[in-house]
Amino acid sequence: MRIALYDIDSKIPNFALMKLSSHFKSQGDEVSLQRNLQAVEADQYFASVVFHTKKSQKRIQQLQQLYGDQITIGGSGIDLQTTLADDVECCFPDYALYNHTHYALGFLTRGCNKRCHFCVVPPKEGALNPNAAIFDDFVPEGQKNVMLLDNNLLVSPNANSLLEQMIQQEYRINFSQTLDIQYLNDDNYPLLKQVYSMNSRFTRRMIYFSCNNRKTADLFEKKREYIKGFGHNQVTVVIMYGFNTRLSEDFAILKRMASLGVISFVQEYQPTVGGSPSRTPEDYFDMDLDEVSAFRFRSNGQNGEKFFRYLNRLYQQQYGRYYLPMLQATYRYNNKPRLQYYLDRPHLFSRKMYHHE
Ligand code: SF4
Repeated sequence: MRIALYDIDSKIPNFALMKLSSHFKSQGDEVSLQRNLQAVEADQYFASVVFHTKKSQKRIQQLQQLYGDQITIGGSGIDLQTTLADDVECCFPDYALYNHTHYALGFLTRGCNKRCHFCVVPPKEGALNPNAAIFDDFVPEGQKNVMLLDNNLLVSPNANSLLEQMIQQEYRINFSQTLDIQYLNDDNYPLLKQVYSMNSRFTRRMIYFSCNNRKTADLFEKKREYIKGFGHNQVTVVIMYGFNTRLSEDFAILKRMASLGVISFVQEYQPTVGGSPSRTPEDYFDMDLDEVSAFRFRSNGQNGEKFFRYLNRLYQQQYGRYYLPMLQATYRYNNKPRLQYYLDRPHLFSRKMYHHE
């Protein structure tokens, strides 16, 4: 049989498609990976969609128009219920589908016991399963780079044993979904320090945590000695905005992370299928915007600009105009012609802050 696998929007090799590929190849089927939405001749069609964006939804529609109910589409971009059949789930991923040799990827644990309102993991994967897989289930022999997709590894009762395995095997680990500072403690810290944690390109040392609210930011403060211990320029904190916080809260987190000397990586909340819509409060702009405009992201200038662009968009939606110092902050380093575009159109911006008395 000929099997066509469509990767709708993955940024990294799609784990589910690689397992499907292994499954079908083991039956002697011919498998092809499709990234363009062109009609191909095959006996069975499958697609995986990770993100619930307009672009992904459009691509799903196009595939449905092409193949009707001949195609099976799964993934968190379309629904949270469809899972791989057990005999597919247990397959070793077929990295050859993507000609991918740079790193292995997979989960050791699945699910999470916490219930963060914005998060798709509990409804999708349920409570924590500490024994979802072992390294041998997805790491090819000789491969030392391992990207872990675990959602909350440190909460797992066997986390220390997993960290010990990473150390013994001399794996270079990318904690792609970040670690939870709440569970960083005296027991796992010495182990975590010995794990050779890397950025997603496996080019430099980096360990990732996340911070989504002020309470978590306080934990970073409390555990600052651990954070310092991971080394200068070796800790990135992923900060989510655009869910339910006000600007003063977002900004307090950014400032707190700057004072801890970590690299902030901001990320806008993206609603998923069945997930909560963004609940940004109407009085989002609750502080002095000049102070925000003067803020300098320590590194990752382009990433910080994403946050400024978000502020511009929201401000314009709320007040009908942009705020000039915020535009200047957005295009401080990159894309300067865009600033000129606004400067040439003074009716688009204001020099006065509308919200702050
Ligand atoms: S955000 Fe992290 S800690 Fe919260 S439910 Fe999701 S996986 Fe668990």
